[in-house]
Amino acid sequence: MALDIITTIDETRRRLDEARSDGLRVGFVPTMGFLHDGHASLMRAAAGDNDVVMASIFVNPLQFAEEEDLDDYPRDLEADAVLAEESGVDILCVPDVEEMYPGGPVLTTVSVEEISSRWEGATRPTHFAGVATVVTKLFNIAGPSRAYFGEKDFQQLAVIRRMVADLSIPVEVIGCPIVREQDGLAMSSRNSYLDPEQRAAAPVLRRALGAGLAAIDHGATDPVAVVRVMTGFIKEEPLVELDYAAAVDAATLETPDQLTGEIRLMIAAQVGRPRLIDNVGATITPTS
Ligand code: AMP
Repeated sequence: MALDIITTIDETRRRLDEARSDGLRVGFVPTMGFLHDGHASLMRAAAGDNDVVMASIFVNPLQFAEEEDLDDYPRDLEADAVLAEESGVDILCVPDVEEMYPGGPVLTTVSVEEISSRWEGATRPTHFAGVATVVTKLFNIAGPSRAYFGEKDFQQLAVIRRMVADLSIPVEVIGCPIVREQDGLAMSSRNSYLDPEQRAAAPVLRRALGAGLAAIDHGATDPVAVVRVMTGFIKEEPLVELDYAAAVDAATLETPDQLTGEIRLMIAAQVGRPRLIDNVGATITPTS
């Protein structure tokens, strides 16, 4: 099927209603565009599992704070359409702000308490309510059987999973692994803001996470000790300003007394203009 670019909610819904009434299963990939191979991996996964794939490109004002980069978030619809089509997308929904939020700010929002308030939420207090609200709206437009999110935004994935469970939204949430550049930097649309020196410094995030994993491999289970190892790595790189490093339970995103079971190491840091985030997972089997 050739890619259709659709800009209205009504037309998107009409197309997907038609697909569903033919018994087809819809896979959905929400994005903010300026697509890279990380996005493409989600689209390919959706194309593998479903009959019809809808992706959206919407730079959602609700999830940006006033001082953030809403106005100059990178955009390239032409290149995005090529990558989306190559990756198996059938319908690319590209609504503008007026189409999504006619009449200005929405009065109805969705917020997922607790899990939204720490880590990313501490620095970006309105961010996850903006994400949860737009994702709910897009779910209502697309009516997908499955929706695909990257582990790159691990806390976002946890927020969406919790929202879907709490509100009994009939969609299966699929988390997809992080796609990285060859030097380990997690792919991100915001990497385009890095100058060459900052770009060379940025893979320290992945190296710090790797050092945290190595400490765990050597038996560390104290989250404070693991965080200290990661922090030490980041401090060595003057162009990278650490926001937080964390060693948390992968389900609750809380710091446990002892690391055990499924855990996640997470880092956020300012590297020049962009704030970059990255994370890795590990399973720690109790020894006794
Ligand atoms: P964004 O366009 O940044 O809102 O991202 C859209 C989706 O792509 C989100 O579910 C992200 O987690 C996912 N994503 C972004 N970068 C990557 C990456 N490097 N690897 C895997 N998924 C990613």
